[in-house]
Amino acid sequence: MPNGGSDCCGTCIFNKANRDKGQEPFCEVRNFKIEDPYWTYCNNHPRRNPLLVRTPRGPVWTAIFAELDSKPFSKELQIPPNLLPPKGDAMYVRVPFCGGIRPYQDGTGVCTICGEECMYTVSVEPLNHDKKFFCSTAHYFEWWFNFCPEATMYREERPINADSLKKRLEEISKSLSDAEAELRTEGDKQRIVELLLKVDDLLFDLGYGGVDLIHAAIYTENPELNEGFSPFILRLQIDLSRAGNLLQQDILDIESVLTCLYDIRDVLKKISSK
Ligand code: SF4
Ligand SMILES: [Zn+2]
Repeated sequence: MPNGGSDCCGTCIFNKANRDKGQEPFCEVRNFKIEDPYWTYCNNHPRRNPLLVRTPRGPVWTAIFAELDSKPFSKELQIPPNLLPPKGDAMYVRVPFCGGIRPYQDGTGVCTICGEECMYTVSVEPLNHDKKFFCSTAHYFEWWFNFCPEATMYREERPINADSLKKRLEEISKSLSDAEAELRTEGDKQRIVELLLKVDDLLFDLGYGGVDLIHAAIYTENPELNEGFSPFILRLQIDLSRAGNLLQQDILDIESVLTCLYDIRDVLKKISSK
């Protein structure tokens, strides 16, 4: 396994080649032929998508040497956090494709954003455009956010405000409590999945959808390391992951699902009282 991270298309259940070894690597969520599955990533990977949502979430990323992660984002740049990749491993950082084209680490070039002449660059050659070079992943992101089609629908996005967040949390909590009652009498799996997807969507909207579960597990052991929502959001992700796993079993373990639903409601309550 390459050390750009194991959460890649090479291990993803949505890659056709992982179900049938005779097939070419192909993403069934995004409908594209995967050229380099061990160096390609996205938020729909089961590691960050415990309910196996098939709607594409954010862009596809590749991995670039961490040496190019040398500059901070400019203060004016407001990229919604759900577009940013999870932290890669120590040696690599992830950067998004542009119009389906993979960026690469490259040799000498002049940065499109700051004009710096560099020996090592990030480069990309978008369809019908000249090749572009960048001094750093931060300047690539800056250009990407303003130029590439993957970012279009997010450019005007504003964070959810506290009031609408609380309202959505209350609605979801109420639906989950109804679902618990139903589950005790009918065991309707599909309805539970739909409700959990709402919680999952909310997490993604909040910008926490990209939190890697490995990191989540580390952080929840040390909640004092985090402030504000983080420990609860991470707990929520783990609860969702447990519920997702139970719902994928052939025989529904209703008591365990009920425990998860109860935990999820408890976390939602704690988030809304923040
Ligand atoms: S692009 Fe995303 S969903 Fe598709 S195979 Fe790769 S990791 Fe899985
Ligand atoms: Zn630059």
